Amino acid sequence: MSQHCPHRLSDFVADLSALLDRTRDEAAILREGAALLADLVGQDDWLPEAQSQPDPARYQQYLLHRDPAGRFSVVSFVWGPGQATPVHDHTVWGLVGVLRGAEISQAYVRSEDGLKAAGSVHRLEPGQVEAVSPTIGDIHRVANAFDDRTSISIHVYGADIGAVRRSTYDADGRPKTFISGYADVPPPLLFDRASALAYGAAE
Ligand code: FE
Repeated sequence: MSQHCPHRLSDFVADLSALLDRTRDEAAILREGAALLADLVGQDDWLPEAQSQPDPARYQQYLLHRDPAGRFSVVSFVWGPGQATPVHDHTVWGLVGVLRGAEISQAYVRSEDGLKAAGSVHRLEPGQVEAVSPTIGDIHRVANAFDDRTSISIHVYGADIGAVRRSTYDADGRPKTFISGYADVPPPLLFDRASALAYGAAE
């Protein structure tokens, strides 16, 4: 899918910034942020090719935008066929919206006997959004719903997620620290209104 509407990402970033200027209440951020993200992933016409590329070895996390104040980051999560995360946490609020393909998600809670599945496995279709956070449930395992094609979801986190020290969990619930980093950190992707006007590419 080609990138017809790069302004969608910059509009999303502007709207999320305005939301975070207005409130620090996590429930409000997750509720209103989910609506903004649903709008963003409701149209598959804006993600650049470079941030849409799967890797045969593992799922990719491309940084799309990092808030200059460090309040949030936006990541394109690209799943090759059959790829899945380990069980992991985030330590900050997060929103996951499916842009292309579909994703399968299972939440977990830690208990004395290890990890326990919380609720049932569910499937997210394009345009659908789900939330995680230490308050509402922060541990999950996510996978591409397809074993024969790429899926892509857009994730938003309440920090520069690639730099956050967090954990994966083994079957016994034992945590292991990891820092995800990013597959690639591109130059700023915000829509360049000046160039677009100068070259007649947009309004
Ligand atoms: Fe996650």
